[in-house]
Amino acid sequence: KDPVPCDLEVAKAQTPKNIADVAREINILKDELDLYGNKKAKISLSIVKRLETQSDGRYVLVTGITPTPLGEGKSTTAVGLSQALGAELKRNVMTCLRQPSQGPTFGIKGGAAGGGYSQVIPMDEFNLHLTGDIHAITAANNLLAAQIDARMFHEATQKDEALYSRLVPDKKGKRVFSDIQLARLKRLGIEKTDPNSLTEEEVRKFVRLNIDPKTITWNRVIDTNDRFLRKITVGQSPTEKGKTRETQFDISVGSEIMAILALTTDMRDMRAKLGKIVVASDMDGNPVTADDFGVGGALMVLMKDAIRPTLMQTLEGTPVLVHTGPFANIAHGNSSIIADKIALKLVGSDGFVVTEAGFGADIGMEKFFNIKCRYSGLVPNVVVLVASVRALKMHGGGPPVTPGVPLPKPYVEENLELLGKGFCNLRKQIENVLKFGVPVIVAVNSFATDTQNEVELVKKLAKENGAFDAVICTHWAHGGKGAKDLAEAVIRATDVPSNFKFLYDLQMPMREKIKTIACEIYGADDVEFSDEAETSMDRYIKQGFNDLPICMAKTHLSLTDNPARKGAPTGFTVAVRNVRASVGAGFIYPLIGTISTMPGLPTRPCFYDIDLDPDTEEVFGLF
Ligand code: ADP
Repeated sequence: KDPVPCDLEVAKAQTPKNIADVAREINILKDELDLYGNKKAKISLSIVKRLETQSDGRYVLVTGITPTPLGEGKSTTAVGLSQALGAELKRNVMTCLRQPSQGPTFGIKGGAAGGGYSQVIPMDEFNLHLTGDIHAITAANNLLAAQIDARMFHEATQKDEALYSRLVPDKKGKRVFSDIQLARLKRLGIEKTDPNSLTEEEVRKFVRLNIDPKTITWNRVIDTNDRFLRKITVGQSPTEKGKTRETQFDISVGSEIMAILALTTDMRDMRAKLGKIVVASDMDGNPVTADDFGVGGALMVLMKDAIRPTLMQTLEGTPVLVHTGPFANIAHGNSSIIADKIALKLVGSDGFVVTEAGFGADIGMEKFFNIKCRYSGLVPNVVVLVASVRALKMHGGGPPVTPGVPLPKPYVEENLELLGKGFCNLRKQIENVLKFGVPVIVAVNSFATDTQNEVELVKKLAKENGAFDAVICTHWAHGGKGAKDLAEAVIRATDVPSNFKFLYDLQMPMREKIKTIACEIYGADDVEFSDEAETSMDRYIKQGFNDLPICMAKTHLSLTDNPARKGAPTGFTVAVRNVRASVGAGFIYPLIGTISTMPGLPTRPCFYDIDLDPDTEEVFGLF
């Protein structure tokens, strides 16, 4: 019988330290801390500057094999390992995690604070609004969306002069162009600085963005799994004079603004990235940006607090930075560069920063290396690859695993044959890590239903197939103590320098980069581009965006583009349905297979179990 109470019960049983004490322990100064109550606090970006001359700590990435829909314990392992390093082995450590989206929290998978005795607390605050960053992203994203439709409406219904006066700010009665407007004029070939000197023709060119509605890629977002928003028609009120348009909502964590926040390095860089967001092309095929709409500054204002990470703690009192939450399947799947940079300075050269890349190594980790590390310049020292017996059995041909339904028989009884067959997925993911030149430690996350023979078999096979080490972990049941062996292996692996390298050069042609990821990492033979994908790629290349890294939007449930194909398939073709550009964030975004940017609610959503006790005001039912 499982002796560990449910996640929320474990979390509630532990009283968190005052967050100001956690901050002091890790050398964050008083004026670098902005308290949100006494269990969480925003921290200042100036920490990096203060500790400029100090060497960075060791950088540990936790990733996993291709998971079941239940998740195989990456967050739990990231927290367990940190507790082992900090509370057990007394090393400086910080854990950098993503903030969960309300989509999975209320939908299928539940929260993402870890689990059992390896969690971030208070887990209800971590899983819900936290310090409001996702709300800020939603607000910024939708302000830009609103302006796209409003601007097209105004351009269709108003004269040049009316549009002109709105674009030019009045400063003490004098009309002047802003720097952004001057840049736009230059792009249009109009070398003038006095608003009154433009000819009628130049005014028309300047004020009319002339958006080609077919090319709009900017969608509205909401942080709820709401499948009925996958396709909508806007502008149906008579006040919009028949200017209807088909569009869609995506989930907030898939917004380019989330990616910008995760990949930015400071305030100035974020302002530039927000302004550069390309939302459409004009009728001449030129990209149209957020700054062309005059909204870049307002987006920055909406995001000014969200740029600072939030400090929390684990069950064993080690510090955690929570910042940004892009999904790994439809976005790039990693917490922020800013949080990692601050943490690496705070822990010092003998300390450790443990961060997690979402879903399997084929997506979250690939994007961590090729996108996040490319922009941060940080070099990862070791990868911890989390594997579970249940997921390997699924890859060996076990029946489907469904959330909310008890696990079928093969998963709760010893079955070494199924496990041995399913090892192919772990072998492929080990191989994937090694392609980047970083040592890999396999963490066998042991569940109560696993037998000793089963976990030992995974450990043995992993060691025989290229892992630096393989360790059986029980941190879910035992907290930091249960990950002590893993922590010791991590220390050993990071004593040697890493030979980290990227998988592809940015200058490689766009189609080649996509093919390299599909063939090298997924195991495909070829890639097939739809006509739509071809047209988009041609447009982006022409607009000068070839040299951006690639962020594949692909199912996390298979190495292929078909979620039902398990194991480590070979000889398949990856279908690229469409290609989009996130120019502000800095990547090209191919849509693979049928992946949707708006998840739906399952027949039995997690929220059936969630409620509040009105007497104690405590939340229950979250996991
Ligand atoms: P991932 O980060 O890989 O998606 P999580 O760490 O969020 O996975 O874990 C998914 C779920 O599985 C959580 O509810 C967690 O409590 C549970 N879990 C993780 N490890 C174990 C374990 N060893 N035994 C039982 N439940 C576990």
